[in-house]
Amino acid sequence: MASEPKTLQEAIIYFADPGNCVSYLVARRWKDGVVCPACGSKNVAFVASRRLWQCKTRHPKAQFSIKVGTIFEDSPITLDKWLLAMWMLANCKNGISSYEISRATGITQKSTWFMLQRLRLALQGEDGGKLSGQIEVDESFIGGEGRNMHADVKARKIQGRRGPMGKAIIAAVLERGGRVRAKVVDRRKKKDLQAFVREHVEPKSALYSDALKSYEGLGNEYAHEVIDHAEAYVRGQVHTNGLENFWSLLKRGVNGTYVSVEPYHLFRYVDEQAFRFNNRKDMDDSDRFDLAVRQIVGKRLTWAEVTGKVGETARPN
Ligand SMILES: [Zn+2]
Repeated sequence: MASEPKTLQEAIIYFADPGNCVSYLVARRWKDGVVCPACGSKNVAFVASRRLWQCKTRHPKAQFSIKVGTIFEDSPITLDKWLLAMWMLANCKNGISSYEISRATGITQKSTWFMLQRLRLALQGEDGGKLSGQIEVDESFIGGEGRNMHADVKARKIQGRRGPMGKAIIAAVLERGGRVRAKVVDRRKKKDLQAFVREHVEPKSALYSDALKSYEGLGNEYAHEVIDHAEAYVRGQVHTNGLENFWSLLKRGVNGTYVSVEPYHLFRYVDEQAFRFNNRKDMDDSDRFDLAVRQIVGKRLTWAEVTGKVGETARPN
């Protein structure tokens, strides 16, 4: 068996072998031995000719593939293509569009769009606790006209989710030298932005914001300092320049690579960029891919869910 890939080129060659796809995934999902996703039994036999496992316990769905219980479940798309798309999504700084994946793999654009939405679900990270230390908070407007959405869906999904000129609002907090948390918010009201800060930032942390009135009052819980952008952008430690880097990456992805992102789907692109941003240091492409692959388990997103026909569900493995 070849050693695990370090570059995109190596990944294409490595994952062209279906056996390598399975062994790569098994090593991350079931490092202590394969477990039946239906009943939890370890008494399973590998059917090598079909790359399936047979659970020895009698129950429905006793035969299962590596895809069962992951974002790949029920997908007819082969793992080489799934993993190639994951490699690119986890590592391309500005994201990768469904059109590019479609051209690279020969899969239809509609299918690759759905693939990417499912892969983005995997990139939604584990929480890892509140941010602490020196924190920047800011909010930004991002384009997202709901052009292609059916009018009644649009009205339902977007109502209230609009800033100036029909743009969506993203709130973000950044731990200097560390992680970012970002979220699509309905409004820039005090109630919404302060709730977002409290959800993600340890009390008593140093907090830097601009002079937006919505942040007034956070000084009771945080060492809050304000930089009034009408006067200056930096006053010693007091600035939000760390977040500017995140905003520019997010905007390059959403406005450049993806061209038209429906506001309803915007949070997935925000999560995708946050994943790359939070894993930008001390990691190479193979590390980021590895981490993303570890997050495929226990998540599903159906076509009905992704198109907003029914609510999303997370289910345990
Ligand atoms: Zn079983």
